[in-house]
Amino acid sequence: MTTIDQSPPIVLAIDDSELVHRLLRARLRHERIDLHSVGTAREGIEMAEKLQPDVILLDIELEDMDGFEVLAQLKANPNTQDIAVIFVSASNETMDRVRGLDLGAVDFVGKPFDVTELRARVRSALRMQRLLKMLSQRAQIDGLTGLWNRTYLDDRLASEVSGSVRYQTPLSFVLCDVDRFKNLNDTYGHPFGDEVLERVAGILSNGRGPDVACRYGGEEFGLIVPGTEVEEASELAGRYREEIELLRWVDRPGVSVTASFGVADLTTIDGSISPEALIAAADQALYRAKSEGRNRVVQAGPGKWPRSLVG
Ligand code: GH3
Ligand code: MG
Ligand code: MG
Ligand code: MG
Repeated sequence: MTTIDQSPPIVLAIDDSELVHRLLRARLRHERIDLHSVGTAREGIEMAEKLQPDVILLDIELEDMDGFEVLAQLKANPNTQDIAVIFVSASNETMDRVRGLDLGAVDFVGKPFDVTELRARVRSALRMQRLLKMLSQRAQIDGLTGLWNRTYLDDRLASEVSGSVRYQTPLSFVLCDVDRFKNLNDTYGHPFGDEVLERVAGILSNGRGPDVACRYGGEEFGLIVPGTEVEEASELAGRYREEIELLRWVDRPGVSVTASFGVADLTTIDGSISPEALIAAADQALYRAKSEGRNRVVQAGPGKWPRSLVG
Protein backbone atom coordinates (compact mmCIF):
# COMPACT_ATOMS: atom_id res chain seq x y z
CA MET A 1 0.00 0.00 0.00
CA THR A 2 1.04 3.60 -0.35
CA THR A 3 2.93 5.64 2.22
CA ILE A 4 3.92 9.28 2.52
CA ASP A 5 7.70 9.72 2.46
CA GLN A 6 9.19 10.48 5.89
CA SER A 7 12.81 11.25 4.89
CA PRO A 8 14.09 14.82 5.50
CA PRO A 9 13.26 17.28 2.72
CA ILE A 10 16.02 18.00 0.21
CA VAL A 11 17.05 21.60 -0.49
CA LEU A 12 19.41 22.45 -3.36
CA ALA A 13 21.22 25.79 -3.24
CA ILE A 14 22.51 27.09 -6.59
CA ASP A 15 24.84 30.03 -6.01
CA ASP A 16 28.26 31.04 -7.33
CA SER A 17 29.38 32.45 -3.99
CA GLU A 18 31.09 30.05 -1.59
CA LEU A 19 30.33 32.52 1.21
CA VAL A 20 26.62 32.19 0.56
CA HIS A 21 26.85 28.39 0.72
CA ARG A 22 28.68 28.61 4.02
CA LEU A 23 26.08 31.01 5.40
CA LEU A 24 23.26 28.77 4.25
CA ARG A 25 24.84 25.71 5.82
CA ALA A 26 25.31 27.53 9.09
CA ARG A 27 21.86 29.05 9.14
CA LEU A 28 19.89 26.03 8.06
CA ARG A 29 21.91 23.69 10.29
CA HIS A 30 19.20 23.23 12.85
CA GLU A 31 16.42 22.65 10.33
CA ARG A 32 15.56 19.05 9.45
CA ILE A 33 16.88 19.52 5.91
CA ASP A 34 19.22 17.66 3.59
CA LEU A 35 21.11 20.63 2.06
CA HIS A 36 23.10 20.34 -1.19
CA SER A 37 25.18 23.12 -2.75
CA VAL A 38 26.36 23.77 -6.30
CA GLY A 39 28.18 26.76 -7.76
CA THR A 40 27.06 26.93 -11.39
CA ALA A 41 23.79 27.01 -13.31
CA ARG A 42 24.77 23.99 -15.38
CA GLU A 43 25.49 21.84 -12.30
CA GLY A 44 22.31 23.15 -10.72
CA ILE A 45 20.10 22.04 -13.59
CA GLU A 46 21.82 18.65 -13.65
CA MET A 47 21.55 18.15 -9.87
CA ALA A 48 17.91 19.24 -9.85
CA GLU A 49 17.06 16.38 -12.17
CA LYS A 50 19.23 13.82 -10.37
CA LEU A 51 18.49 14.82 -6.78
CA GLN A 52 14.81 15.70 -7.15
CA PRO A 53 14.97 18.29 -4.34
CA ASP A 54 11.82 19.61 -2.71
CA VAL A 55 13.06 23.20 -2.79
CA ILE A 56 15.73 25.03 -4.80
CA LEU A 57 17.33 28.24 -3.56
CA LEU A 58 18.36 29.94 -6.78
CA ASP A 59 20.74 32.86 -7.15
CA ILE A 60 19.78 35.23 -9.94
CA GLU A 61 23.32 36.47 -10.58
CA LEU A 62 25.20 33.34 -11.67
CA GLU A 63 28.30 33.31 -13.85
CA ASP A 64 27.41 30.83 -16.59
CA MET A 65 23.71 31.66 -17.01
CA ASP A 66 21.27 33.98 -15.28
CA GLY A 67 18.83 32.58 -12.73
CA PHE A 68 15.79 33.45 -14.85
CA GLU A 69 17.09 31.20 -17.61
CA VAL A 70 17.77 28.41 -15.08
CA LEU A 71 14.21 28.74 -13.79
CA ALA A 72 12.81 28.65 -17.33
CA GLN A 73 14.73 25.44 -18.04
CA LEU A 74 13.60 23.82 -14.79
CA LYS A 75 9.99 24.68 -15.58
CA ALA A 76 10.26 23.36 -19.14
CA ASN A 77 11.44 19.92 -17.98
CA PRO A 78 8.65 17.61 -16.72
CA ASN A 79 11.15 15.99 -14.32
CA THR A 80 11.92 19.27 -12.55
CA GLN A 81 8.89 21.48 -13.15
CA ASP A 82 7.21 20.72 -9.81
CA ILE A 83 10.20 21.65 -7.66
CA ALA A 84 9.56 24.81 -5.60
CA VAL A 85 12.10 27.50 -6.50
CA ILE A 86 12.91 30.39 -4.17
CA PHE A 87 14.86 33.19 -5.79
CA VAL A 88 17.74 34.60 -3.79
CA SER A 89 19.07 37.87 -5.08
CA ALA A 90 20.85 41.07 -4.15
CA SER A 91 18.56 42.89 -6.55
CA ASN A 92 15.84 44.87 -4.87
CA GLU A 93 14.25 45.70 -8.19
CA THR A 94 10.53 45.08 -8.12
CA MET A 95 10.66 44.05 -11.76
CA ASP A 96 13.15 41.26 -10.99
CA ARG A 97 10.86 39.91 -8.30
CA VAL A 98 7.86 40.10 -10.57
CA ARG A 99 9.72 38.40 -13.40
CA GLY A 100 10.85 35.54 -11.13
CA LEU A 101 7.38 34.99 -9.71
CA ASP A 102 5.85 35.13 -13.19
CA LEU A 103 8.28 32.47 -14.38
CA GLY A 104 6.99 30.19 -11.61
CA ALA A 105 9.20 30.86 -8.57
CA VAL A 106 7.24 30.41 -5.33
CA ASP A 107 9.07 33.06 -3.35
CA PHE A 108 11.85 35.62 -3.21
CA VAL A 109 14.52 36.28 -0.58
CA GLY A 110 16.73 39.37 -0.70
CA LYS A 111 20.49 39.34 -0.13
CA PRO A 112 21.97 39.75 2.38
CA PHE A 113 19.37 37.45 3.83
CA ASP A 114 17.82 37.73 7.20
CA VAL A 115 18.27 34.39 9.04
CA THR A 116 14.82 34.16 10.47
CA GLU A 117 13.10 35.22 7.28
CA LEU A 118 15.06 32.78 5.10
CA ARG A 119 14.28 29.88 7.40
CA ALA A 120 10.61 30.79 7.50
CA ARG A 121 10.41 31.04 3.71
CA VAL A 122 12.11 27.68 3.20
CA ARG A 123 9.79 26.11 5.75
CA SER A 124 6.76 27.60 4.08
CA ALA A 125 7.86 26.39 0.63
CA LEU A 126 8.45 22.90 2.05
CA ARG A 127 5.01 22.90 3.67
CA MET A 128 3.43 23.81 0.35
CA GLN A 129 5.40 21.10 -1.47
CA ARG A 130 4.28 18.48 1.05
CA LEU A 131 0.66 19.47 0.65
CA LEU A 132 0.90 19.38 -3.15
CA LYS A 133 2.53 15.95 -3.01
CA MET A 134 -0.18 14.63 -0.68
CA LEU A 135 -2.90 16.11 -2.86
CA SER A 136 -1.58 14.60 -6.05
CA GLN A 137 -1.05 11.25 -4.30
CA ARG A 138 -4.52 11.34 -2.82
CA ALA A 139 -6.02 11.92 -6.27
CA GLN A 140 -4.54 8.58 -7.28
CA ILE A 141 -5.77 6.54 -4.33
CA ASP A 142 -9.07 4.74 -4.09
CA GLY A 143 -11.00 6.04 -1.08
CA LEU A 144 -12.61 2.73 -0.06
CA THR A 145 -9.72 0.28 -0.32
CA GLY A 146 -6.63 2.51 -0.10
CA LEU A 147 -5.28 0.86 -3.25
CA TRP A 148 -4.08 2.86 -6.25
CA ASN A 149 -6.98 3.88 -8.47
CA ARG A 150 -7.60 3.52 -12.19
CA THR A 151 -5.90 6.83 -13.05
CA TYR A 152 -2.70 5.66 -11.41
CA LEU A 153 -3.00 2.19 -12.93
CA ASP A 154 -3.20 3.61 -16.46
CA ASP A 155 -0.12 5.82 -15.95
CA ARG A 156 1.89 3.16 -14.21
CA LEU A 157 1.04 0.39 -16.68
CA ALA A 158 2.07 2.62 -19.59
CA SER A 159 5.49 3.23 -18.04
CA GLU A 160 5.94 -0.44 -17.07
CA VAL A 161 5.08 -1.59 -20.59
CA SER A 162 7.54 0.78 -22.24
CA GLY A 163 10.23 -0.13 -19.69
CA SER A 164 9.69 -3.85 -20.29
CA VAL A 165 9.90 -3.47 -24.05
CA ARG A 166 13.04 -1.33 -23.79
CA TYR A 167 14.88 -3.54 -21.31
CA GLN A 168 13.46 -6.85 -22.59
CA THR A 169 12.04 -7.86 -19.23
CA PRO A 170 8.81 -9.78 -18.70
CA LEU A 171 5.67 -8.06 -17.43
CA SER A 172 2.38 -9.60 -16.35
CA PHE A 173 -1.01 -8.11 -15.69
CA VAL A 174 -3.76 -9.77 -13.65
CA LEU A 175 -7.44 -8.82 -13.57
CA CYS A 176 -9.44 -10.04 -10.59
CA ASP A 177 -13.23 -9.83 -10.43
CA VAL A 178 -15.28 -10.83 -7.38
CA ASP A 179 -17.85 -13.50 -8.31
CA ARG A 180 -21.58 -12.82 -8.05
CA PHE A 181 -20.86 -9.67 -6.12
CA LYS A 182 -24.21 -8.16 -7.01
CA ASN A 183 -25.93 -11.05 -5.16
CA LEU A 184 -23.79 -10.35 -2.12
CA ASN A 185 -24.82 -6.69 -2.11
CA ASP A 186 -28.47 -7.59 -2.66
CA THR A 187 -28.48 -10.21 0.10
CA TYR A 188 -26.37 -8.61 2.84
CA GLY A 189 -26.42 -4.94 1.88
CA HIS A 190 -24.01 -2.52 0.30
CA PRO A 191 -21.96 -1.82 3.48
CA PHE A 192 -21.14 -5.51 3.74
CA GLY A 193 -20.19 -5.48 0.06
CA ASP A 194 -17.81 -2.63 0.86
CA GLU A 195 -16.26 -4.67 3.67
CA VAL A 196 -15.69 -7.55 1.27
CA LEU A 197 -13.92 -5.23 -1.17
CA GLU A 198 -11.66 -3.95 1.62
CA ARG A 199 -10.69 -7.48 2.67
CA VAL A 200 -10.03 -8.58 -0.93
CA ALA A 201 -7.92 -5.44 -1.44
CA GLY A 202 -5.97 -6.32 1.72
CA ILE A 203 -5.05 -9.69 0.22
CA LEU A 204 -4.11 -8.32 -3.20
CA SER A 205 -1.90 -5.58 -1.75
CA ASN A 206 0.15 -8.08 0.23
CA GLY A 207 2.38 -9.07 -2.68
CA ARG A 208 6.07 -8.51 -3.33
CA GLY A 209 7.54 -5.02 -3.35
CA PRO A 210 7.43 -4.36 -7.09
CA ASP A 211 3.86 -5.59 -7.55
CA VAL A 212 1.26 -2.85 -7.92
CA ALA A 213 -2.31 -3.52 -6.77
CA CYS A 214 -5.04 -1.19 -8.05
CA ARG A 215 -8.79 -0.93 -7.85
CA TYR A 216 -9.74 -1.15 -11.49
CA GLY A 217 -13.44 -0.41 -11.02
CA GLY A 218 -16.38 -1.53 -8.82
CA GLU A 219 -15.48 -5.09 -7.76
CA GLU A 220 -12.57 -5.46 -10.15
CA PHE A 221 -8.90 -5.21 -9.31
CA GLY A 222 -5.79 -4.95 -11.49
CA LEU A 223 -2.36 -6.23 -10.51
CA ILE A 224 0.77 -5.15 -12.34
CA VAL A 225 3.43 -7.82 -11.84
CA PRO A 226 6.80 -6.60 -13.20
CA GLY A 227 9.64 -8.99 -14.04
CA THR A 228 7.26 -11.94 -14.13
CA GLU A 229 6.08 -14.25 -16.91
CA VAL A 230 2.50 -15.32 -17.28
CA GLU A 231 2.95 -18.80 -15.70
CA GLU A 232 4.41 -17.42 -12.49
CA ALA A 233 1.82 -14.63 -12.36
CA SER A 234 -0.89 -17.30 -12.70
CA GLU A 235 0.54 -19.13 -9.69
CA LEU A 236 0.45 -15.89 -7.76
CA ALA A 237 -3.17 -15.35 -8.82
CA GLY A 238 -3.92 -18.93 -7.73
CA ARG A 239 -2.62 -18.18 -4.22
CA TYR A 240 -4.73 -15.02 -4.04
CA ARG A 241 -7.77 -16.99 -5.26
CA GLU A 242 -7.32 -19.47 -2.37
CA GLU A 243 -6.85 -16.71 0.20
CA ILE A 244 -10.01 -14.96 -0.94
CA GLU A 245 -11.97 -18.21 -0.71
CA LEU A 246 -10.78 -18.64 2.89
CA LEU A 247 -11.96 -15.18 4.02
CA ARG A 248 -14.57 -15.28 6.82
CA TRP A 249 -16.57 -12.62 8.69
CA VAL A 250 -17.27 -12.97 12.42
CA ASP A 251 -20.72 -11.42 12.22
CA ARG A 252 -21.68 -13.48 9.13
CA PRO A 253 -20.09 -16.90 9.72
CA GLY A 254 -21.90 -18.59 6.84
CA VAL A 255 -20.65 -16.24 4.13
CA SER A 256 -17.71 -16.83 1.82
CA VAL A 257 -16.71 -15.13 -1.43
CA THR A 258 -14.79 -16.20 -4.49
CA ALA A 259 -13.11 -14.35 -7.33
CA SER A 260 -12.09 -15.08 -10.90
CA PHE A 261 -8.76 -14.14 -12.45
CA GLY A 262 -7.49 -13.44 -15.96
CA VAL A 263 -3.71 -13.39 -16.37
CA ALA A 264 -1.68 -12.13 -19.33
CA ASP A 265 1.86 -11.04 -20.10
CA LEU A 266 3.39 -9.23 -23.07
CA THR A 267 3.94 -12.50 -24.97
CA THR A 268 0.19 -13.25 -24.89
CA ILE A 269 -0.70 -10.10 -26.83
CA ASP A 270 -1.93 -10.66 -30.37
CA GLY A 271 -1.82 -7.21 -31.97
CA SER A 272 0.86 -4.62 -31.29
CA ILE A 273 2.18 -4.21 -27.76
CA SER A 274 0.42 -1.53 -25.69
CA PRO A 275 -0.98 -1.22 -22.17
CA GLU A 276 -4.49 -1.46 -23.61
CA ALA A 277 -3.62 -4.68 -25.46
CA LEU A 278 -2.21 -6.18 -22.25
CA ILE A 279 -5.37 -5.29 -20.32
CA ALA A 280 -7.51 -6.68 -23.16
CA ALA A 281 -5.60 -10.00 -23.08
CA ALA A 282 -6.15 -10.29 -19.32
CA ASP A 283 -9.80 -9.31 -19.76
CA GLN A 284 -10.41 -12.04 -22.33
CA ALA A 285 -8.86 -14.59 -19.99
CA LEU A 286 -11.06 -13.28 -17.17
CA TYR A 287 -14.11 -13.63 -19.37
CA ARG A 288 -13.22 -17.29 -19.91
CA ALA A 289 -12.72 -17.80 -16.18
CA LYS A 290 -16.27 -16.51 -15.66
CA SER A 291 -17.84 -18.57 -18.40
CA GLU A 292 -16.03 -21.74 -17.34
CA GLY A 293 -17.59 -21.57 -13.89
CA ARG A 294 -15.89 -18.75 -11.88
CA ASN A 295 -13.57 -19.11 -8.83
CA ARG A 296 -10.64 -19.93 -11.10
CA VAL A 297 -7.56 -18.53 -12.80
CA VAL A 298 -7.31 -18.50 -16.59
CA GLN A 299 -4.02 -17.78 -18.27
CA ALA A 300 -4.06 -16.07 -21.67
CA GLY A 301 -2.77 -18.21 -24.53
CA PRO A 302 0.38 -17.38 -26.48
CA GLY A 303 0.09 -14.37 -28.76
CA LYS A 304 2.28 -13.49 -31.69
CA TRP A 305 5.26 -12.23 -29.65
CA PRO A 306 8.06 -14.72 -28.99
CA ARG A 307 9.62 -14.56 -25.51
CA SER A 308 12.90 -13.34 -26.99
CA LEU A 309 11.31 -10.17 -28.35
CA VAL A 310 9.81 -8.93 -25.11
CA GLY A 311 11.86 -10.68 -22.47
P1 GH3 B 1 -19.84 -11.84 -11.99
O1 GH3 B 1 -19.58 -13.08 -11.20
O2 GH3 B 1 -20.23 -12.15 -13.39
O3 GH3 B 1 -18.70 -10.89 -11.91
O4 GH3 B 1 -21.13 -11.14 -11.32
P2 GH3 B 1 -21.16 -9.82 -10.44
O5 GH3 B 1 -22.46 -9.76 -9.75
O6 GH3 B 1 -19.97 -9.78 -9.57
O7 GH3 B 1 -20.97 -8.71 -11.53
P3 GH3 B 1 -21.85 -7.46 -11.90
O8 GH3 B 1 -20.98 -6.65 -12.80
O9 GH3 B 1 -23.20 -7.86 -12.39
O10 GH3 B 1 -22.06 -6.67 -10.56
C1 GH3 B 1 -21.07 -5.94 -9.92
C2 GH3 B 1 -21.70 -5.23 -8.76
O11 GH3 B 1 -20.72 -4.52 -8.00
C3 GH3 B 1 -22.71 -4.19 -9.18
C4 GH3 B 1 -22.40 -2.97 -8.34
O12 GH3 B 1 -23.54 -2.50 -7.70
C5 GH3 B 1 -21.41 -3.48 -7.32
N1 GH3 B 1 -20.46 -2.48 -6.90
C6 GH3 B 1 -19.67 -1.69 -7.67
N2 GH3 B 1 -18.91 -0.88 -6.90
C7 GH3 B 1 -19.24 -1.14 -5.60
C8 GH3 B 1 -18.82 -0.63 -4.34
O13 GH3 B 1 -17.95 0.25 -4.23
N3 GH3 B 1 -19.36 -1.15 -3.21
C9 GH3 B 1 -20.31 -2.13 -3.28
N4 GH3 B 1 -20.81 -2.60 -2.13
N5 GH3 B 1 -20.76 -2.63 -4.45
C10 GH3 B 1 -20.23 -2.15 -5.60
MG1 MG C 1 25.82 35.21 -7.62
MG1 MG D 1 -17.22 -6.95 -12.73
MG1 MG E 1 -18.01 -9.60 -10.49
